[in-house]
Amino acid sequence: MVQSSILGFPRMGRLRDLKKACEAYWGGKLSQEDLLKEGKRLRLEHWKIQKDAGVDIIPSNDFAFYDHVLDHIQMFNVIPERYSKHKLDPIDEYFAMGRGHQKNGVDVSALEMVKWFDSNYHYVKPTFQDNQTFKLASNPKAVAEFKEAKEAGITTRPVVLGPVSFLALGKADRGQSVEPISLLDKVLPVYEELLQALKAAGAETVQIDEPVLVFDLLPKVKDAFKPAYQKLSALDAKGPQLVLATYFGDIIHNFDVIPALQSLYALHVDLVRHPEQLESVIQQLGPKQILSAGVVDGRNIWKTNFKKAIEVVESAIQKLGKDRVIVATSSSLVHTPHTLASEKQLPEEVKDWFSFASEKAGEVTVIAKAVTDGPASVREQLESNAKSMQARASSKRTNDPQVKDRQSKVTSAMHDRKSPFPQRYAQQKEKLNLPLFPTTTIGSFPQTSEIRVQRNKFTKGEITAKEYEAFIEKEIQDVVKIQDELDLDVYVHGEPERNDMVQYFGERLEGYVFTTHAWVQSYGSRCVRPPIIVGDISRPAPMTVKESKYAASISKKPMKGMLTGPITCLRWSFPRDDVHQSIQAQQLALALRDEVVDLEAAGIFVIQVDEPALREGLPLRAGRERENYLSWAVDSFKLSTAGVQDSTQIHSHFCYSEFQDFFHAIAALDADVLSIENSKSDAKLLRVFVDQAYPRHIGPGVYDIHSPRVPSEEEIKGRIEEMLQYLKPDQLWINPDCGLKTRQWKETKAALGNMVNAAKYFRGKH
Ligand code: GLN
Ligand code: ZN
Repeated sequence: MVQSSILGFPRMGRLRDLKKACEAYWGGKLSQEDLLKEGKRLRLEHWKIQKDAGVDIIPSNDFAFYDHVLDHIQMFNVIPERYSKHKLDPIDEYFAMGRGHQKNGVDVSALEMVKWFDSNYHYVKPTFQDNQTFKLASNPKAVAEFKEAKEAGITTRPVVLGPVSFLALGKADRGQSVEPISLLDKVLPVYEELLQALKAAGAETVQIDEPVLVFDLLPKVKDAFKPAYQKLSALDAKGPQLVLATYFGDIIHNFDVIPALQSLYALHVDLVRHPEQLESVIQQLGPKQILSAGVVDGRNIWKTNFKKAIEVVESAIQKLGKDRVIVATSSSLVHTPHTLASEKQLPEEVKDWFSFASEKAGEVTVIAKAVTDGPASVREQLESNAKSMQARASSKRTNDPQVKDRQSKVTSAMHDRKSPFPQRYAQQKEKLNLPLFPTTTIGSFPQTSEIRVQRNKFTKGEITAKEYEAFIEKEIQDVVKIQDELDLDVYVHGEPERNDMVQYFGERLEGYVFTTHAWVQSYGSRCVRPPIIVGDISRPAPMTVKESKYAASISKKPMKGMLTGPITCLRWSFPRDDVHQSIQAQQLALALRDEVVDLEAAGIFVIQVDEPALREGLPLRAGRERENYLSWAVDSFKLSTAGVQDSTQIHSHFCYSEFQDFFHAIAALDADVLSIENSKSDAKLLRVFVDQAYPRHIGPGVYDIHSPRVPSEEEIKGRIEEMLQYLKPDQLWINPDCGLKTRQWKETKAALGNMVNAAKYFRGKH
């Protein structure tokens, strides 16, 4: 019999219950006991959903109040002393590491949090000391949750982050120099202890996650697999059987590690992203080893194509036999929303194409049954699935001939500005007449509660479109006046009309749909609700021209138009899985190109196209795939911006300072001005602009906008001084790190005032 399995289930609950409980607990409105109870309730509910769907192998220890890597950090006692010394309750110590703690005389900031592979989920980075020791927590979470499920009558497969990934995904604590992977010998005994405890509690199998196997690995990390898994398999009957799980990539380039893993019970691979690795993975399996075939996408919201998935599983069965194949989700489902059942407003046509976590649980069981008992045993499900696939493929929404026609006519010349930068700059200089060290902001101004109230009223129909418009105009007047007072040089309209930088555009484009409850955890209690790209994208009407034009009409200085770039629109949405992302990016680019040209025609001669998500789209491994991505990503940015005259100045913005490894792509965007985050990093990072003789203009953020702290004029001057070591005076713009929407007005005015004064000081000097 072929079993069905899930690698992890979303934790938030149907109505983001976990978010609500955690935030209430942090705010002192929920007791610790009630928080723990809520966690228990959610775990049980999620196990039941999977059980009722008929899933054979249900995960446990996939739940986390904040982050599962943080759970592991605590379970193995990798708790830096700055947290442990306060002797907080375990749950408070846990949250202190996750989000910082400032209460009752304790003041400690959070551990670093970074993106989990190429997803939008963030994990807490394990932080190791030079003299790091490991110790299994008493009543370890993985064991406790296994028992909890068992008591409820559900035998689960615990999920544990594997030793190599746990170490390799971590770093030395500040001031420490330990190489995490060198701690392998020290950490393995704790794994042995944990696995034995799981076995003693009744766990027959354990999913041990080693996702780093999809990376290009340093030799010493690669070499760690052998001793690690020799040791853990030597537990034999004293330990559970191990299912080693990889996801988000293929493992072909790391096949030399496989011999060390062949004695493990099973190997899980992602066959959604990389179906082509199937053949070769099968050849690498040990003689009895089981293949867990990840055929149901854990990263997206589309219904699985049963026919295709069954074909993949069948081809594995042909070589291995039914007893050596498991049907699984490609990765944990934590990247998908809870259930489609909550969506009451989606067009029925489109809803039929989707499958969220709870529905995917049903999918793995149907596929497993189809290959176990034959297609006839699930005929109805297969037929209705085929119908959905057919309907989607032939829908008018998915295929817009006009969009396709336009794409077929895109030429390479459309990607280039009319003239090279020096000529453009000469014209821009004349047109814009900006001083040296021009000052500007990144787009948004504080989104006050008044703005949210009015937007809500408008959405609910409590005020008319006209009233709302008048309100937005008033907001624009206010921010223009404030910018006058501050004496900034290039103004923005403040983005008061935008709920979110991607959703706002999605709502104005054909080809997108929106959900009401499809939240996905981003980090801790923070969730995002990405719009979904369902079909060919086009722009029925201008999206931002009205606001920008109005703003320009009341400003005495250049007004900057503000757009979200094609890659960011794509990356922060659920993309289609039926056409390549480069095609979707090009469609977005064409829509934005029209917007850019319309803005210019409306008298907007500075236009910023934000691409903060450009970097996170970088494929995990260096090489061809990465270069391919960069080439179409850069092309789509250029296509969206190159329609303007030389005298129109194109800006772009990124919220990170680490672009050294793909600098050529940043340079290739050919933006006249780039604003980047820099205030928290070393100004030395700017050296790359000198080394590469970057000719265009740059605004490295002079202060951090994530904190309410007001930087002094002196501090900003110091920062500019540092920047001038790397950038020429006529190259440098003065701006904050990012948009100001999360800030209050008071600190915003004070900080910008200091910023403008600092710029003026340097203007006087040069
Ligand atoms: N223009 C956007 C803003 O200012 C940019 C936000 C971002 O880069 N994340 O809000
Ligand atoms: Zn930003």
